[in-house]
Amino acid sequence: MQDWLGRLASALAQADSAALRRLFLADGYWRDHLALTWDFRTFGSPALIAAGLMAAAGRHSLCGVRAEEGACKVFEHRTRGMTAESSFTFETDVATCRGHVRLIRASDDSGDWRAWTFFTSMEDIKGFEERAGMRRPRLTNHHGYVKKSDAGQANTLDPQVLVVGAGHAGLTIAARLSALNIDTLVIDREKQIGDNWRNRYQSLILHNETAANHLPFLPFPSTWPNYLSKEQMADWLGIYASAMGLNVKTSTNLIGAEYDECRHRWLVQIKNPDGSLLILHPHHIVQATGVFGKQNRPTIAGVDRFAGQLIYAGDYAGGLTSPGVRALVVGTGSSGHDVAQDLCTGGAQVTMLQRSSTCVVSVEPGAARAYALYSDNGMPIRDADLAGNSFPFPVVAELHKEMTKRIAEMDRDLLQGLRDAGFATDFGEDNSGFLMKYHRYGGGYYINVGCSELIIEGKIKIKQGVEIARLEGNTVSFTDGTSMDVDVLVVATGYSNMSESVRSLMGDAVADRVGPIWGLDAEGEVRAMWRSTGQPGFWLMGGSLQQCRPYSKYLALQIKAREVGLV
Ligand SMILES: Cc1cc2nc3c(=O)[nH]c(=O)nc-3n(C[C@H](O)[C@H](O)[C@H](O)COP(=O)(O)OP(=O)(O)OC[C@H]3O[C@@H](n4cnc5c(N)ncnc54)[C@H](O)[C@@H]3O)c2cc1C
Repeated sequence: MQDWLGRLASALAQADSAALRRLFLADGYWRDHLALTWDFRTFGSPALIAAGLMAAAGRHSLCGVRAEEGACKVFEHRTRGMTAESSFTFETDVATCRGHVRLIRASDDSGDWRAWTFFTSMEDIKGFEERAGMRRPRLTNHHGYVKKSDAGQANTLDPQVLVVGAGHAGLTIAARLSALNIDTLVIDREKQIGDNWRNRYQSLILHNETAANHLPFLPFPSTWPNYLSKEQMADWLGIYASAMGLNVKTSTNLIGAEYDECRHRWLVQIKNPDGSLLILHPHHIVQATGVFGKQNRPTIAGVDRFAGQLIYAGDYAGGLTSPGVRALVVGTGSSGHDVAQDLCTGGAQVTMLQRSSTCVVSVEPGAARAYALYSDNGMPIRDADLAGNSFPFPVVAELHKEMTKRIAEMDRDLLQGLRDAGFATDFGEDNSGFLMKYHRYGGGYYINVGCSELIIEGKIKIKQGVEIARLEGNTVSFTDGTSMDVDVLVVATGYSNMSESVRSLMGDAVADRVGPIWGLDAEGEVRAMWRSTGQPGFWLMGGSLQQCRPYSKYLALQIKAREVGLV
């Protein structure tokens, strides 16, 4: 491993493009997270990798490339053959960095090791390291710790960064920024931190294991269950904000924001809980108001003549428990399933309306396979994040095709039962399963936490391949000419792109500059999230707990770099 890393360093030092190209497989990748490009980039052929690395090395000298002690593993990969992988460290002129490399041994006589994946990632900006771990603040230094209650006196507070949204995304970026000594204020429209989870339906539990979900600096208690309830998440966010000393103002809204191009700062107006207005001049605004835009509200003919109760899934708070209530849930993504399950266990007669097909995977053993890197007794979480992010998306898609086949085998009875019940399933457009659906579209799948069994047992009925034609009184008529009577109609047809929430928070000019959010760009990196958006001083934070933990750090580093004039 050290030999390969040494050859890479010397090829770079000598600007020897041919030698660099020889170090990579024809389908090898180099992925960079800030270390050498100040962006998230994926380069996908030996020629592009060599050109990209040489250009980057011209900007940032790279030295001290060393495999981490005891990190190298050699094993037989299921599809690739003999594989060696290791994390490594290196430095540039501005940063200390880590990386991860996976080498494959040639099957010919040469026995050469070439890189399949090569990942470089910034850890710390030199001289501005995160105040954590070995660099925790001295006892006498309270800078950066402001009690939550003090944030109420924010009239005099003019933060460098304003974060809008105090969900886990907003709080993790605030914690990271505070650890880099950046004054940060978080505002949220809700009354209490955690209300974004607290106000959801009672049966909500997380769909990923706790080991994958820890927030930065402060893991969940080790006595907590493997799948957290919404109450635990809600309470933990409040505890986290308090323990990390974050400045959070609740019941507070952003009224307007204008960017001053000359002074590189915003003029922001926020509305305090008592209705008074406050002007702030942050250098940066981070929008962390959730991963989607508005709820989709399809036009349904006759909706004004509907005699039942119409609820959009995002507003569904549960509690519709009167037995015998006839409910139709439109949409079969995660929300549709959760609402249908909640209604059914409350005694309602539930039908789900499925227009096309849905990727369904068991929470265990299925979905858990995708998070196998994370375990309470396994590798440290920072190593798991490094190894996980070292896979560029084209490789993730390839690996997930293989994994999806294995999961489908394990979920054979579940999937057959669903098909028998008339529910259409799929594995994604290229058979790469639920995780790539999440990355590409943010939906179109369901991790089964019990609703599928209710469908298989016939307790929840399925109406498949049709749409609602019209409503009249309590009657819902479908496009196939059939109809049914319902008391409650729940519409769970997803959400618009997050760019819509940028538009409503920041206005058209900013939204147009930012463009589409989420989904993958031409190189296979996530669009606009956690990176430059096209609007100076404006950033987007969000995603799953597992994403927010590492990407909050990357975003904080980019903001710090601008604050200290490095970028
Ligand atoms: C059933 C279910 C299970 C899930 N399981 C998992 C899981 O296991 N792991 C996981 O990582 N994710 C899970 N999720 C997804 C998770 O809910 C979202 O990804 C997550 O809530 C996104 O976090 P966020 O901080 O970006 O946004 P949110 O949690 O939506 O927080 C946004 C915050 O911004 C505030 N806000 C919005 N607009 C404004 C405004 N204009 N002004 C001020 N404040 C504003 C809101 O009040 C809210 O507090 C699950 C979701 C569901 C429904």
